[in-house]
Amino acid sequence: MLTGQEAPGSLEDVRTLLNSWLIPNDTRVAEDRFESYAERCELPERQHDVVRRLRDDLRSVVEGPDTADAGLNAWVDRLDVRPSVEEGRLGFRHQAGPAGELLVTVLTAIASGQWSRLKACPDCRWAFYDHTRNGSKRWCLMTAGGPDGRSCGSIAKVRAYRDRTQGG
Ligand SMILES: [Zn+2]
Repeated sequence: MLTGQEAPGSLEDVRTLLNSWLIPNDTRVAEDRFESYAERCELPERQHDVVRRLRDDLRSVVEGPDTADAGLNAWVDRLDVRPSVEEGRLGFRHQAGPAGELLVTVLTAIASGQWSRLKACPDCRWAFYDHTRNGSKRWCLMTAGGPDGRSCGSIAKVRAYRDRTQGG
């Protein structure tokens, strides 16, 4: 079942990768859980470095104010991803293993317009997919939805209310 923040199709794999770096609710101290992510995904050892670097760059794309085209193009070059027509439809080919698959998923999502809906919460930096009709969601979750759920939007509202009522 969708928790309201999951991305469609294989874009969820990219979101999972992004959230292998996170700021847990309880400690609020950033943690890099790449190793356990890699283990869960049975990522081959030789792919660890490249996938971790891809994650860090994708995080800055998702979190950054700019579209960071240059960073994505650099990855297209580095992993040698090429367009290819398959059964009359545009696809991509590469020989870059899981890192290549993840990048192809990002490129496909850019083509379909889904990429811009993958966002990072400005408060806790959790990556989520914006399912709202007009793509206006800003905070990770308005109501905490599950073990990873935080309600940064609600927290921000409470904070704003306190600031208003207590004169800052
Ligand atoms: Zn948040």
